[in-house]
Amino acid sequence: MTAPLDRRALLADERGTLYKEAELRVALVYPSPYRAAMSSLGYQQIYRTLHEMPGVAADRAMLADEGSHERGLVTLETGQPVGGYPMLAYSVAYELEIAGVVETLERASIPVLVKDRDHRHPLVIAGGPLTFSNPAPLAPFFDVIILGEGEELIVELVTIGRDLGFDREKIWSALAGRPGYYLPHLHGERVPPVAAVDDSLLPARSVIATPHTELADMFMTEAARGCSRGCTYCVMRRSTNGGMRIVPREKIISGIPAGTRRVGLVGAAVTDHPDIAAIVRDVVDGGREVGISSLRADKLSDELVGLLARGGYRTLTVAGDGSSERMRRVIERSTRADHLIRSAEFARTHRLHTLKVYMMLGIPTETDEDVDELVQLSKQLAAIHPRVAYGLAPFVAKRNTPLDGTPFAGIALVEHRLERLSKGLRAAGLADKVKVRPTSARWAWVEYMLAQGESNAGLAVMDAHRAGGTFAAYKKAFIAHGVEPTGPRARVPSSEELKTLKRQRIAVVAG
Ligand code: SF4
Repeated sequence: MTAPLDRRALLADERGTLYKEAELRVALVYPSPYRAAMSSLGYQQIYRTLHEMPGVAADRAMLADEGSHERGLVTLETGQPVGGYPMLAYSVAYELEIAGVVETLERASIPVLVKDRDHRHPLVIAGGPLTFSNPAPLAPFFDVIILGEGEELIVELVTIGRDLGFDREKIWSALAGRPGYYLPHLHGERVPPVAAVDDSLLPARSVIATPHTELADMFMTEAARGCSRGCTYCVMRRSTNGGMRIVPREKIISGIPAGTRRVGLVGAAVTDHPDIAAIVRDVVDGGREVGISSLRADKLSDELVGLLARGGYRTLTVAGDGSSERMRRVIERSTRADHLIRSAEFARTHRLHTLKVYMMLGIPTETDEDVDELVQLSKQLAAIHPRVAYGLAPFVAKRNTPLDGTPFAGIALVEHRLERLSKGLRAAGLADKVKVRPTSARWAWVEYMLAQGESNAGLAVMDAHRAGGTFAAYKKAFIAHGVEPTGPRARVPSSEELKTLKRQRIAVVAG
């Protein structure tokens, strides 16, 4: 393992870092290490937004890399302790980052719980992708939580905070009743609806390029926000914030800075953009590499995959999500086996090294036969393309989706299905051609407990983190805090019950 870089070395390798003298500096905190932080377009967009405010600057701070010897928490740009800032703004992407919230607050010597803070401590707020589904476990740690799209609300909140001297009580009074803010002390467990920004603020674009991310030196720009589809497990489905909002081709292309070598097109469903092939052609014709955050197998064409190959693609990554045609219908995923087979053909034609397919295991009503169907499909894919890889994640039900409240399939069952798939592939002689890359069923269960949990689930994370952050520590802490999203919903529902559940959830989401 290479030694973590210190802040000066990281800054030296960045392009686009914003330096500004300002009366007010906000600490922008990411509860995961630098690599993840700088791959987040949302984090970069808020960095840009704050810098555009007169008299305001944002300085970044992240969770230290594993193996780092740093003890406190200082910002990258200034090296100043985060605890000295009047306001900390966190971006939280998903449930397992909540432990990073606890750790960064402890390193900053700020009381982790809102109830233990007073006028000497900064205002601590959060936003980010997790707020689209279930921010309730964040409640014990944050004074204010911005829900959904945050570009307008962060400006409003910083303005109010500055005017009121970052006095917590006064800010709470000023925000009470305003849409888009979750004030845990006021709302309790009843989380208000998420906010959407005006379309004129699209697209989000990255500010800083760095070689130290998965997307090394890539300029990220949004091609679309939201999605027009209705997959029943997804928080970005069409019922969220009015569905898909498209960024015009000209606006995307004209926003790419001169000298950019790699362009990432970002969005929940980029290939649903009506001009996607033309946009990718514009990018690669300019001699640049291209990346797309979400390729839909049913939207691939020979032309598009050819352009992606010209733009440096080596792996064609698509999502099937359900292990069988029936499973894909259960979750209303429009991808079919023939779309995946066609994807393999495109990958072969354009000499892409690997076809990667994301799948979920443990979807409600799934049986062993559904997994067996995946083995059969694997034979067809491997006959077309010599290198297939499955990214396999256990299904985790999220709030604000029709499948909200569906229980976790169980660690043992998910592991059994995984083993059945691996055995099936070995028996078919595909072990060398089809690789299985699963995410942990145990940690998916922890994610599920938090995705379905209330504020006490956040308290459990705090205790589990302090007890070493192991799986056993989480289990113990969930029990100690009475976190039980199982109970009456623990049983796998029948198809009929699922339909009713879905109807109810759609009504809730639409309402
Ligand atoms: S899973 Fe993808 S295609 Fe389906 S609703 Fe979500 S973003 Fe859209």
